[in-house]
Amino acid sequence: MFSSKPFLIAGPCSAESHEQMLTIANAFKDNDYVNMIRAGVWKPRSKPGHFEGKGQEALEWLQEVKKVSGKKVCTEVATPEQIELALRYDIDAFWIGARSTVNPFTVQEIADALKGTDKAILIKNPINPDVELWAGAIERIQRSGTKDIACIHRGFSSYDQSSKFRNKPNWAIPIEIKRRYPNIPIYCDVSHICGKRNLLADVAQRALDLDLDGLMIETHPNPDAALSDAKQQITPDRLLELVENLTLRKGESNDTANAQIEHLRQVMDSVDAEIVDLLAKRKNIGVELGDIKIKNNMPIYQPERWREIVESRTEWALKEFDAELIRKIFELVHEDSIQRQMEQMTPKEKS
Ligand code: PEP
Ligand code: MN
Repeated sequence: MFSSKPFLIAGPCSAESHEQMLTIANAFKDNDYVNMIRAGVWKPRSKPGHFEGKGQEALEWLQEVKKVSGKKVCTEVATPEQIELALRYDIDAFWIGARSTVNPFTVQEIADALKGTDKAILIKNPINPDVELWAGAIERIQRSGTKDIACIHRGFSSYDQSSKFRNKPNWAIPIEIKRRYPNIPIYCDVSHICGKRNLLADVAQRALDLDLDGLMIETHPNPDAALSDAKQQITPDRLLELVENLTLRKGESNDTANAQIEHLRQVMDSVDAEIVDLLAKRKNIGVELGDIKIKNNMPIYQPERWREIVESRTEWALKEFDAELIRKIFELVHEDSIQRQMEQMTPKEKS
């Protein structure tokens, strides 16, 4: 079921009305980009008192969407009862939401309820950046006998109020999942990462640049009036425009490109070797400094010096790099130096 690449899943955050779902079905029926239509039927809301989905009647609308559009349809399931109902309405694929993936008991219940069915399952990452938890959910679903599995990176929740994202992406994690499960396609839920429309195009492009296999983008006929996730949804027309502006990295390899890549990789290897040598040199200077500090009974950590390191290094690097990147790199290097000097001062006891 998930064989096309890039695989595009579009549709509203929530199925809200028969009319809304029919509008979506008609908008996508002649749209070759869209492979599957999504709509939440049971909505996991952070707080009570918000729209929690239309339940069973929305399953009927989804079934109709499938007929009208000729596309596959999917919805979120979190309990065996929801799976049983969704099976009755012949929904093609179920996604496991981030709040379910995080809980092995829930994933196991879902896996048990899937035994003997042949549904396609999409597994979103857990809300926290834990590769093992995501991998555990994949393995539980695999053990249920489910063959058609795809994963979805929807970003990770964090307390960082300054982040421009609703759920920060951490691309290393989906890439690690892809490395471990090469036969499982991995998609990017651009909408839940961004939380707002103006970021969608860049994140979608980034996902394709990293060779993710598809995208999930929330689409609503009248986004501002949506009953959930209004700020991040776009109209079907806007979706079309977004998709048409994406650059697909088809990965066609040719001899010239391969030779250029090989050459640049060799150059990069030697630059990295130089960086390691320089780091070793810097480390040894740190050891000498440590000796002097110890002999003269001086403190190892001197905040003034750290401030000066950050200021000067970010200034030197300003033309090429973001100050934050340089600060992070030197924080690691400086921390290592302080750690070594502390060990010089109080050598570890030999066991
Ligand atoms: C959704 O897709 O509408 C949803 C609730 O997703 P998530 O589990 O990623 O929050
Ligand atoms: Mn949503």
